[in-house]
Amino acid sequence: MTEGHRPRGNPWFVPAILLGMVLGGVTGALLGREVAVIRLLGDLFLAALKMMIVPLVASSMIVGVSSLGDIRRLGRLGLLTLAYYLTTTLIAVVIGLLLVNLFRPGAGVQAGAVFDRAMSDYSFLDVIRGLVPANVFRAMAEGDILPLIFFSLFFGGVLTTVGAKARPVLAVVEGIFEISMRMVRIIVAAAPVGVFALVATRLGAAGGWSGFAAELRGLGIYAATVLAGLGVHGIVVLPALLLLLGRRSALRFVRDMAEPLMLAFSTASSSATLPVTIETIDEKAGVDPRVGSFVLPLGATVNMDGTALYEAVAAVFIAQSYGVDLTLPVQLVIVLTATLAAIGAAGIPEAGLVTMVMVLHAAGLPVEGIGIILAIDWFLDRCRTTVNVWGDAVGAAILERFAGLTPQADE
Ligand code: ASP
Repeated sequence: MTEGHRPRGNPWFVPAILLGMVLGGVTGALLGREVAVIRLLGDLFLAALKMMIVPLVASSMIVGVSSLGDIRRLGRLGLLTLAYYLTTTLIAVVIGLLLVNLFRPGAGVQAGAVFDRAMSDYSFLDVIRGLVPANVFRAMAEGDILPLIFFSLFFGGVLTTVGAKARPVLAVVEGIFEISMRMVRIIVAAAPVGVFALVATRLGAAGGWSGFAAELRGLGIYAATVLAGLGVHGIVVLPALLLLLGRRSALRFVRDMAEPLMLAFSTASSSATLPVTIETIDEKAGVDPRVGSFVLPLGATVNMDGTALYEAVAAVFIAQSYGVDLTLPVQLVIVLTATLAAIGAAGIPEAGLVTMVMVLHAAGLPVEGIGIILAIDWFLDRCRTTVNVWGDAVGAAILERFAGLTPQADE
């Protein structure tokens, strides 16, 4: 049914990433300096990720919004669903921010060149002002993704009200979305080489093992911070909401939903998991399929609590690594952009890494910082995807109670 969303079945991906990391480490340590060709490989990989931001984010947002149906008739269920998505995503971001400020995983990491952007003159109001693009093409060309998101939401929303004339446009955008997802998948398949090149370059520039050891340590604490945040959100916050609002026990619900959750972990893709999530929530958990079939497909591309949490932690970790002190306004910028980055991310492996670029850009942080987190991202991607799918499922169970649907005729 969801052709093009097939789970990535490559069993060599993870070993290849690990191998890339180790080889990169050894090469960088032996060389002890930057090598232009290796640097080029890493630069190409980062450029390829950046290249996908505009088509992927724009098409994903337009397709996502238009799946709501005529926006003027967005009923009670639609509004409640959006409110649930937004609230839980924000909670996840705040948990991530609190933990990363507490653990400070980037504190001991010396991320190469000193980064000297004047953060003090950067304000939250500037970001709000920048949300509405005077020229959407200029925003795209300059990699300003927030205005692009604003434009895409507006465009997609109005598209749903135009009717037959807009249908071909939607078909084109859906096509662009499918193609972009496949392109990302191909680029991500080159991640082992990217990891090799970025690790070798960083380590070479750091001049050897000592810098690397500090970085590995930082990376470990960073991963632990993301996992702790995902744990708090997935094991404490969402179950509490499920109990209070959905009147369901999380233990039972998690047992019912075990299959999609495991699939989410093994594919790192909410979209690939979606058909199983929809089926299981109806068959095993007994949630009204009318709710499931509306809340879950939208959630698979729009509602990503795990991704939002990760975006916030990663951005602050990178800032800490570069010795940038994040003021409150900049942290607010991160709250806003991490939320939008999660909404804009497609439900495919490493989509969060693509939209991460935009968070860094908006907060004025160096995009090369992605090189630091890349090595561990394959693992964190799986964990955050599991929380993403869990958030969608909990949402469906909660919203069922508030949807005001008449009970279904017998089954
Ligand atoms: N892989 C995630 C998902 O499909 C998105 C991400 O990269 O964070 O839900």
